[in-house]
Amino acid sequence: MYARDAVIFVKPAGRDISNLALILKNFGEVTSLTTNLLKTSVTPISCEGMNLDDILAGFPVVRTSFPTKYLGLPLTVRRLRKSDFQPLLEKATSKLAGWHGRHLTQAGRVCLTKSVLSSLPVYLLSVLKAPKDILDELDKARKKFLWAGDMTLTGRKCKVNWTKSGMAKENGGLGILNLERFARALRLRWLWHEWVSPEKTWVGTKTPCDDTDGLLFAVCTTISVGDGNRTSFWHSGWLQGCRPKDIAPNLFKITRPKNRTVAAALQRHTWIRDIRRAEGLALVHVHKFFRLWGMLRNVQLNQNQEDQIKWKLTKTGEYTAASAYKAQFIGNVKAPKVQRIWRAWAPPKCKFFAWLVTQNRVWTSDRLQRRGWPHNPSCPLCRSASETAFHLLVECRFTRRVWSLLASWTAQPALCPQQWRPSEDTLQWWTNITSSEHVPRKAILSLSLLIIWEIWCERNARIFRKQEKSAPGLFSKIKNEAAAWALAGAKHLESLIRRE
Ligand SMILES: [Zn+2]
Repeated sequence: MYARDAVIFVKPAGRDISNLALILKNFGEVTSLTTNLLKTSVTPISCEGMNLDDILAGFPVVRTSFPTKYLGLPLTVRRLRKSDFQPLLEKATSKLAGWHGRHLTQAGRVCLTKSVLSSLPVYLLSVLKAPKDILDELDKARKKFLWAGDMTLTGRKCKVNWTKSGMAKENGGLGILNLERFARALRLRWLWHEWVSPEKTWVGTKTPCDDTDGLLFAVCTTISVGDGNRTSFWHSGWLQGCRPKDIAPNLFKITRPKNRTVAAALQRHTWIRDIRRAEGLALVHVHKFFRLWGMLRNVQLNQNQEDQIKWKLTKTGEYTAASAYKAQFIGNVKAPKVQRIWRAWAPPKCKFFAWLVTQNRVWTSDRLQRRGWPHNPSCPLCRSASETAFHLLVECRFTRRVWSLLASWTAQPALCPQQWRPSEDTLQWWTNITSSEHVPRKAILSLSLLIIWEIWCERNARIFRKQEKSAPGLFSKIKNEAAAWALAGAKHLESLIRRE
């Protein structure tokens, strides 16, 4: 058996130290939880001018100084510096070295970025407020790994900008965690526990939350004031859903103390007496005073009921980090058409490629030309038109032949180019063919992702390996692949192709 780290505060007096050593020894004998003195250290606080050699004679352990580590977190008596967070960065980069990013598919790198690189800092971020620089550095490492693996990140490799990648899948992004917002969501746990578990020993000390955290917390919660003993008068959003400090910010500025409870502030109008008039009352203060006073006039405390808090964003009314994170994206535009890609049954690399197509971020000739990079302007499949993603997948003579063959094989007229409605871009076209009526949508979703992927592979084989397949050749390759997908679990696709 062993216990986790423990901190004991003790007065720097010889007698106290020897007593502590004795207590630890006896405790070890009774419980078998013996203190390992080799792993124990003493960190003096304000012990200048004392003879520590004498004082610590009865407790022979290593002497250290701040910053030190406690439960894996940096612990210090001063403000944490950027260097204190450095181990976190090193941990992330040490992982990257072993992954050999260049041998992984892009979809594989998305997965590792999301599941490992983004979750490494969770523990630390939920306890401490990391400097923006550190989050930026972590972002840089994540971005580099995502787009370039272990190679140098260049403009060509970084296909979609970081903001877009960080958006949720329902908003058209890749769903990679935005660390800054996620850290904020994690910090709100402090404010939540402050409310629901006032018995915790740390309650009443400073939390790592800043004012924006407080504002988000106020927006995400509903407070029903009972006896007013738990709710903070100025900082809680209890007054018609608002925080009095937001209703009358100027007044709040010249108020001392600022941490009274509602009960204490309302008693004999203490909140009015707290306003330091000597600091200069202007018309704006008077105006805000009457506004606040008007709102407070009808407040009635109920001595028989405790103050209650409810988290607005979950059914249970309890805080969750996930809901707090999502709340910060509420205003983002939804992209249900793009989101369907991720819901389809297809290998991740095919879905990732289809997503890139919808973002118009595939390196076809038109885009290479715009950047001034080497390219062959004509489409490698038909050699008669210039190459764009839309041409390659939709308009190309070669591709249309493949689509026609597949349409008759599956007996799905929706896949036949003659039946396609005119569309302006690949997303619109893809939405049209996969959501037309009377089609087995899930099967068509999978099959269309397979076709798009195979057309792209054929295009690359022609450009980079000088290998060429005829349209019927590509058609039979797609048929074989579809059978393999069906074997691997694509049930809807299986029922579509079993007709043969
Ligand atoms: Zn073509």
